[in-house]
Parts: sequence; structure tokens; C-alpha cells
Amino acid sequence: IEGRITMVSNITLETSEIKKKVELPEKIVFGRTFTTHMFEMDYDSAAGEWINPRIKEYGTIEVSPATMVFHYAQAIFEGLKAYKLDNGKIAIFRPEKNIERFHNSCRRMCIPEVDPEFFMEAMKELIKIDSEWIPTRPGHALYIRPFVFASEPVLGVRPSDNYKFMIILSPVGPYYPEGFKPVPIMATDKYVRAVRKGVGDCKTSGNYGASLLAQREARAVGYTQVLWLDGIEQKYIEEVGTMNIFIRFKNEIVTPKLTGSILPGVTRMSVIQMLRDKGYTVNERMVSIDEVIDGYKTGNLIEIFGSGTAAVISAVSKLKYKDEVLHFSDDQPGELSKELYEELTGIQYGKVEDKYNWLTYVE
Ligand SMILES: *Cc1c(COP(=O)(O)O)cnc(C)c1O
Repeated sequence: IEGRITMVSNITLETSEIKKKVELPEKIVFGRTFTTHMFEMDYDSAAGEWINPRIKEYGTIEVSPATMVFHYAQAIFEGLKAYKLDNGKIAIFRPEKNIERFHNSCRRMCIPEVDPEFFMEAMKELIKIDSEWIPTRPGHALYIRPFVFASEPVLGVRPSDNYKFMIILSPVGPYYPEGFKPVPIMATDKYVRAVRKGVGDCKTSGNYGASLLAQREARAVGYTQVLWLDGIEQKYIEEVGTMNIFIRFKNEIVTPKLTGSILPGVTRMSVIQMLRDKGYTVNERMVSIDEVIDGYKTGNLIEIFGSGTAAVISAVSKLKYKDEVLHFSDDQPGELSKELYEELTGIQYGKVEDKYNWLTYVE
């Protein structure tokens, strides 16, 4: 493997562990296993640039208790996946879209931007070095988590002068180990996830801390995900858990319009394109919870599913809102959910022709 590594000129490789025999656990639980290496670089305010890019062995990092991110949550992240195809090639799914979104998150959170080409290069180099870690079993992939946090050790609410950018990699198994099973979701008007003109359209850490209580309360009554309603009237549907949502009516498929409080998902964007190519009418518009309940009662509503990198497509078994429970199927995903899941994962694993050019090859 050593001979294959050509480091980008200025990334330092700080490791003795290039080739390590990788023993992947029999059952890989999402997000608990990490590869041998990680990427790290620092932002130096005096120099006004990112410095010291390096790939080193995965491990703990030491920071001061005053590190700004702990107090003011100036941090952003991304989540994407790499796959090992049957022909041995490694492909990342639409990474340029994640890098673009990362940029938008940087700007909104006053974090210095990272050169997109360098970002891509750093990610590819790290994946190359740890390529032995990419699981090849069906439904498995390498989850990529780039992130930046404010690293200056100072108390005071202002943008940090220093930042750390890191990329860690985690081999992951199928999101639903029992197979593609629909999940129960619950709409809440007790909490909101995001408001327009806030930071709901950025992958910034604070959004997720703020969502935990609603999720815990939904789980306590048997629902796996929260269906988030808009921050102003709690009337319009926005997202489900950390996924975008699609509602299939008889004559159109609706996904909430990106009004600023919704995270613009890469999977959402891909699903819209696939559906339009299949001849479906897809409308990005406001859709109220009442419209969905009415559609269910009149037989106009066919199925509901979520979209996101982790689960790809997640079918909905039932939807609770106040005293209403809309019931779909406990064990069978909707017909279109299943079809999209098969086709999209087919493209990702190189089993279906990549007609959209969504795969970026690592080597
Ligand atoms: C990441 C995320 C999504 C899904 O985005 P993908 O790019 O499809 O993974 C949707 N909603 C929220 C809140 C998210 O954090």
C-alpha cells in the first residue's frame, strides 16, 4: 500500500501505521468504530490561513476547558459516504455538494472557509490511506465526518480567532440492521427545530443539541423520529429527525420548500431529480400537517418517506399528530420508498449505471 500513497504536496503524513490489518467487527453499529487515521489542520488568525495540514493516527486531542466551541457552539460539520465497488474502486457520493454546503455553513457561522479543492484532496488522501476499512458487505459504507470548531481558549461571545478542521472516518453497517423497515414518527407543536433567518439551513452543532428533548419525548411514547413543524405557526411540515421529508399524494409528490429553516439535503436533491426523471410531478412547496391528515382521510395520500445520507431513504410506518394517527404499514415500506432506496443505493454501490455522474472516484 505504501507505494500507492502520493501525498498532496503540503499534507504531512504523521504515522507509522500505514498498513494495519483491519478487523472489522461482525456487527458494525453506526458511528462507533473509527479508522486508523484522521485529518487535522489549524486556522491561524495571525497568518489568516489554514496551516499545518496533516494526517495522523486517530486519537484524542487535548484542548483547554475555555475552548470557545464548548461555550458558544461555533462549530459546523458534514456527513457523507464512500463505497467500495465490486470492481475495487472507491467512490464518494456527490462530495462537491457537501463541500458547497460546508461553505455556506462556514459563512453563516463566521468560520473561515476551506478551499474546496483542498478539502476534496484531503478527504481523498485520508480515505486512500484507510481504504482497508471500507466494508464491502451489502448495506455497508464508510461514513465521512468533516467538521470545524472554534478552538481559541477565551471566554467572550465573538467569532474565535482560531479553528481546527478535522476529518474522521467511520465504517458503518446498514442504518436499519433488521432491514428496510418503516419507522413511526410524531409531529410536535411543543418544540421547534429551527426558525427562518436562523441557522436551520446550516449543519451547525447547536441545532442538534436543541433537538434532543423533543426526540426523547417522542421515543418515550414509541415514536422513533420527530416530525418538525415550522417555527412560526407550527403548521407547515419541515423535516423529520435529521432527514428531509417527501409526501406522496395521488397526483404529486411534495417536499417542503427550502425557506431557510430546512437543511438542504444532498439526498433530497438527488431524490427530486430521480423522481422527475421517472415522470412524477414533484413540487417543492409549503405543505401543512392538516393537508397531510386530510389527504390520509380522503385516500389522496399514498406514502411518506424521509431522505438523508445515513439511512438513504426511510419509509414511515405511522404518523402521530395530537390525537390523530395515520397508519401506513408496520413492516412494508411504501412502493416508491422501496424503489428509490434500491435505485439510489444501486448507484452508490456501482450496481446501477451512474447516469447523473454522482460518483467521485478516489483514485
Ligand atoms: C444532514 C441533514 C439532512 C440530510 O442531508 P443529506 O445531505 O441528505 O444527508 C436533513 N436534515 C437535517 C437537519 C440534517 O442535519
